Amino acid sequence: MPGCRILTDSGIEGFGYTGTHARLASDKLLTSCIGEVFGPLLIGEDPRKPDALYKKLSSDPPTHWIGRAGVTQMALSAVDLALWDIKAKDARVPLWQLLGGNPANKIEAYNTDCGWLDRPLDKLVDDCRKMIEEEGFSAVKMKVGKADPQEDFKRVEAVRKGIGAEARLMVDANAKWDLPVALEWCHRFVNFDVTWLEEPLWHDDVQGHASLAEAIETPLALGESLYSVDHFKEFVLAKALHYLQPDASRCGGITGLLQVADLGLEHGLPVSPHHGDMMQAQIHAVISHPACNQLEYIPWTLHCFEEPVSVRDGIYQIPQSPGAGTTLKSDAMEAHGIRL
Ligand code: MG
Repeated sequence: MPGCRILTDSGIEGFGYTGTHARLASDKLLTSCIGEVFGPLLIGEDPRKPDALYKKLSSDPPTHWIGRAGVTQMALSAVDLALWDIKAKDARVPLWQLLGGNPANKIEAYNTDCGWLDRPLDKLVDDCRKMIEEEGFSAVKMKVGKADPQEDFKRVEAVRKGIGAEARLMVDANAKWDLPVALEWCHRFVNFDVTWLEEPLWHDDVQGHASLAEAIETPLALGESLYSVDHFKEFVLAKALHYLQPDASRCGGITGLLQVADLGLEHGLPVSPHHGDMMQAQIHAVISHPACNQLEYIPWTLHCFEEPVSVRDGIYQIPQSPGAGTTLKSDAMEAHGIRL
């Protein structure tokens, strides 16, 4: 989990991070970009101006030649998150309050941690059912993309039967299909009342997603592999998606996520951020933006944070501590070998 800790002369520390799940050379590239490219540009700046610093870090260093996506944008995401954390800590309020959020907003958590592709069918169905019947969630997401699409549809059918007709079910292919396969199979999702089909095709295939969106009734969702509002705009203008799923740890931090949320609002499309180990900060943006009312839930990293997000009966509890919720516990940093 590469990230950054920004220290200020007033003693406030801001935490932000991004991630690849790779822990190898790619993480080194990210920390190098944060420390060597963006770090020097922050010295002497006012950290309470994340919008202005986002503009500076996006335009001053000539990073557009080495990537307007991927490493540079993920590194910028970590820095932006830390700056918003500082701004909210300096104002002594939780970030959602700084962003004008209404604490009465009910933010739904939908659970993905019961629907992994490698789960045997019986366990998949049982785990999804438990989330709905015992844990209080009203929506779950399951993965598809088995070698034989027929197996996927047996699994979707079994999960729908297991969770009942009322619960919402999302399906995520993680870009495993190509257009001919998707066109042959995906019209079947409507039989199982699937709320959205996520990332059916390769991440950059705008035209393919547009063709699929036109051919099937099930709405399309994507965005976890897009890196800026410009990328989202291409899909939106091509009518290639229905749910926008930005990830603050990849698409430019809180600043980038809010730009994508504004785009969704402008086009009347709901925004449902991807988890990306970043529920901690994203919950603040979701509470504060009218295009958002739900957030993915995968509780893998909660033990690492001073104030982990919590969910009760399928609803996110409103964070109360000052900041963006990204402050890492020192023992978690030690245990995971995190050096910020
Ligand atoms: Mg996904």
